[in-house]
Amino acid sequence: MKIQVADLEFEPFIASDEIAKRVRVIGEQLNVDYKHTIPLFIGVLNGSFIFIADLVKHVTIPCEITFTKLASYYGGLSSTGKIRDDFDLNVNIEGRHIILIEDIVETGNTLNYLIDKLEVRKPASISVCTLLLKKSELKTPIVELKYTGFEIDNDYVIGYGLDYHELGRNLKEIYRKVSE
Ligand code: 5GP
Repeated sequence: MKIQVADLEFEPFIASDEIAKRVRVIGEQLNVDYKHTIPLFIGVLNGSFIFIADLVKHVTIPCEITFTKLASYYGGLSSTGKIRDDFDLNVNIEGRHIILIEDIVETGNTLNYLIDKLEVRKPASISVCTLLLKKSELKTPIVELKYTGFEIDNDYVIGYGLDYHELGRNLKEIYRKVSE
């Protein structure tokens, strides 16, 4: 069923059971890949809050979870290219295995900014796990991007943590903007 959010119409795109299945598979893969470590999950707020919460429920190895907050969209439909640092990490990441949790990667600008910022703090490794990837929009390949939930076209999506003008984050499913 189509829904109205602020001034735009959205249609169902990825159902909640499909998301749940994929999130489980990624969680199980992380258990294997990080078996002998205590990884530090860093959720990039706001958009990743539901994804990271569901993902870590499938993680059975010892792990730590923290958050950082960046904003790159300012609530509109397209990236301004500017990144706003809202709050920084409050943990020492030197020597730690970092798993960055993102909601969506489009151009990769936000992620590159964050990776550069974390690398100077000398973690043992950084990998990135994103729920959604708009592969055609990625400016340069990001080697750290090892786990992707779904590759999608360049449609504007909301739900499962993602917003449009701060609305829609609470939706269980992912919706995409209806094209005019
Ligand atoms: P990038 O820096 O990779 O171009 O953009 C990443 C950021 O843009 C994401 O963290 C997210 O905040 C925002 N973004 C990109 N595409 C979408 C989209 O389709 N829907 C929403 N809600 N945000 C998006």
